[in-house]
Amino acid sequence: MSELPVRPYERRAATFEPWDPRTVDVARELARLIDSARPGTVAHHVGSSSVPGLPGKNYVDLGVEAAPDDIPLIAEAVRSLGFVPQTDPGRFPPARPMFLGAVMHDGATFNVHLHVMPAGRGELAEQLGFRDALRAEAALRDSYAVEKQRIVEHVAAGSKMVYTLAKAGFVEGALYELGLRRPPEDLGDPIAPGATIGFLGGGQLGRMMAFSARAMGYRVVALDPDPDCPMAAVADEIVVGRYDDVDAARRLGAMSDVVTYELEHVGLEAARAAAEGAPLRPGLAALAATQDRLAERRFLRDIGEQTAPWREVRGVAEAKRAARELGLPMRLKLPVGGYDGRSQLRVTDETGIEAGVAALGGLDGRPLLAEGEIDYEAELSIVVARGRDGRTLAFPISRNVHDAGVLAESVAPAPFAEPIPHVAREVGDWIARKLDLVGVMTVELFLSRDGLLIVNELAPRVHNSGHWTMEGAATSQFEQHLRAILGLPLGSVQPHGVAAMVNLLGTGPDRPARLAGTERALADPGVHVHVYGKRRVFERRKMGHVTVVGADADEALERARRARAALTWEA
Ligand code: ADP
Ligand code: MG
Repeated sequence: MSELPVRPYERRAATFEPWDPRTVDVARELARLIDSARPGTVAHHVGSSSVPGLPGKNYVDLGVEAAPDDIPLIAEAVRSLGFVPQTDPGRFPPARPMFLGAVMHDGATFNVHLHVMPAGRGELAEQLGFRDALRAEAALRDSYAVEKQRIVEHVAAGSKMVYTLAKAGFVEGALYELGLRRPPEDLGDPIAPGATIGFLGGGQLGRMMAFSARAMGYRVVALDPDPDCPMAAVADEIVVGRYDDVDAARRLGAMSDVVTYELEHVGLEAARAAAEGAPLRPGLAALAATQDRLAERRFLRDIGEQTAPWREVRGVAEAKRAARELGLPMRLKLPVGGYDGRSQLRVTDETGIEAGVAALGGLDGRPLLAEGEIDYEAELSIVVARGRDGRTLAFPISRNVHDAGVLAESVAPAPFAEPIPHVAREVGDWIARKLDLVGVMTVELFLSRDGLLIVNELAPRVHNSGHWTMEGAATSQFEQHLRAILGLPLGSVQPHGVAAMVNLLGTGPDRPARLAGTERALADPGVHVHVYGKRRVFERRKMGHVTVVGADADEALERARRARAALTWEA
């Protein structure tokens, strides 16, 4: 066997050294090799070793940007040179792979990181911009060197992870200062208490945001088809109209100083009409990218996020082809309007495909989303806020359990070790910035059995899996969303312990809602019962939730489940 130019990566304790000019030769030689293995591939020298005079670990970092479809081919080419993919859980999915290698040069061994990035993420542009600024500005270079030295001394015995995380704060600050990362559009002056917040949608999410708004001294109006909606008890006024009623939405906007939404299934025209009267936050782009599952899949693909494999299918023949390509079981989903597991189904065998397409009304050739099923270890979610300075702040991740598509329970902070929480934060940060979000957004994730984080769904709003923050974190997700859209500073996301949240669903036939058992549920003094004030109850309707903050996940969950078991709906 002939010897490959790139050898296995040598894991060794990182030392902090003066800049080594030989790294430039190594980078140049590797770029030439990569271009010859796959012509047209440009490997840029990035990272600290690309900046003359900057001390560091002298790893040679290379960055390649490519169209998503080219990434597997580039991966094959660099493997043929001897690079091996980084397989640590979580960090580098096949859509955004990292390769490791080592080369001998001038009697020394140089470790190499080769990162292949999908072009849509804009990741390489930031790295090149930061590199060029470091090369050009001695002051920036010096302060970065000091910061790196400080971190190295601080975490001398610590992990690489700690080093990377500690550096990230400095780099982020520099990216904003250099204009390589931008804050959202100018939000103007903060909106002060006394002003009116308009909500498209008056359900339980709006109600809980309205409680926070009231506590902070704001007026609240909502658009909802039902004058007795959960928000009615808290709002100054309900504008009665469907979620796509353009005139009603325009009236809501005219009454408001800022408008937001509590569900993504509001008509785009209605949202636009509301935005005539007051700024809409998050904006129309976030709404458009998330209210249609196919648009959301395309958006995620374009920004290089990992999702389940998917196809847009029209009619039975295409659905059958998708099943062959994606494998069975497969999910079929209606692109618009589904929630809580509605408007989607699981197809387990070839014979179920036609029935599935028919059940979703797809026989006439209207588009459906077909998706391969992920055999996941856990479902997670992360609630991220982004405010006026453009920086994102995420609550600790929660682990979620669904029952037939409806969220049953959440635990946060989820009991998963690094790098899972860190990677989830990175994913949330990227998506929030790519949506140019102002407000709170939720990313639902699958944690695959081999440790990859796969994006399931986005919600440009507060989320059921973030309800735990009401008692479990220094700031609730509801208040956080308001702070962001009002242009106020974000609140602390510090958790108070480990919180468990268990949903209280309806049971039985449609009838007036009367809850029994509250006294028994509250016998545990750590239990909090939230009831959404819905007038009628029916099977599986989200009626309320129970939270417990405890010492560990199992204990908190156990107590929350016990409390929920005490709660029943009277016949
Ligand atoms: P909804 O808008 O109803 O929340 P989701 O697409 O999030 O729709 O699906 C609801 C739930 O169904 C998910 O939380 C998950 O439990 C399950 N599910 C959906 N798609 C997949 C998939 N591709 N693989 C595995 N489970 C899935
Ligand atoms: Mg979902």
